[in-house]
Amino acid sequence: MGVLIDLHTHSTASDGTDSPAQLVAAAAEAGLDVLALTDHDTTAGWREATGALPPGLRLVPGAELSCVSDDGRGGKCSVHLLAYLFDPQAESLITEQRRLRTERRERLYAMAGRMAADGFPVDADELMAGLPEDAPAGRPHLARALVAAGVVADVGEAFDHYLASGGPYYVRRADTPVTTAIDMIRQAGGVTVIAHAFAHARGPTVTAEVIAELAAAGLGGIEVDHPNHDAHARAQLRELADSLGLLRTGSSDYHGTNKVLTLGQETTDPEMFDALVARGTGSSVIGS
Ligand code: AMP
Ligand code: ZN
Ligand code: FE
Ligand code: FE
Repeated sequence: MGVLIDLHTHSTASDGTDSPAQLVAAAAEAGLDVLALTDHDTTAGWREATGALPPGLRLVPGAELSCVSDDGRGGKCSVHLLAYLFDPQAESLITEQRRLRTERRERLYAMAGRMAADGFPVDADELMAGLPEDAPAGRPHLARALVAAGVVADVGEAFDHYLASGGPYYVRRADTPVTTAIDMIRQAGGVTVIAHAFAHARGPTVTAEVIAELAAAGLGGIEVDHPNHDAHARAQLRELADSLGLLRTGSSDYHGTNKVLTLGQETTDPEMFDALVARGTGSSVIGS
């Protein structure tokens, strides 16, 4: 068997079910040689994963950034950007995280304010005062306030009736423009790869023209092999990556028991991995 490289996984630092320590143990158990930890919008799991790294497994520090992009059809859509080997202390990242944090709080304040204006027993200022200091504010916080106020029985009902996108009180989240994120990661010495770009079942996707524009803006690669890509999507993205001179990756997008897929279900070509590592200068691959 060759070298097994899985470059897209989640831990309990975001929405996976394995702790970072459990994740690296599971990766070794699955026979992986290289694992990237790419939690949504956070590097909080890096330290624990590093400390628990079993011998023989190499760890690539990363993240999956929630971004917004022109979709190439006159609208906007969500884009997930994988980022590897960047310096998490870089000024470019700190600045953007501070901006996102403020915008998320303003957005939640607006949603709560709209509900209050319609007579719901929620106090936007009280909600703000109760938000965690170091975690991003989100709809789950408002949902819990609605449960506490007796408006709904549980968080799921709060989403179903009021907070889901398309729901009556939904306000769009402030995500990073994808070109800003590409720039920011590059300034932090990292490499970017667009995640599941043609996973059409997940919602609106960007066009090939947009990916070409992102390549010109400094995008490093395309995640070609992903569980949500069908054979046609993979063929299109493979050709696009080759024509644009971008790296090609393959990864499981493992979330523990939150999704039915296994570590190493999709893997990255070792030559592509070496090229990615050669470009990343903000942090190092950990382990031997
Ligand atoms: P936000 O970042 O504010 O848009 O909120 C997104 C978070 O809300 C996600 O991380 C989910 O955990 C949670 N969420 C989204 N939809 C639902 C739902 N239907 N029921 C419960 N939680 C949800
Ligand atoms: Zn996730
Ligand atoms: Fe994603
Ligand atoms: Fe993911």
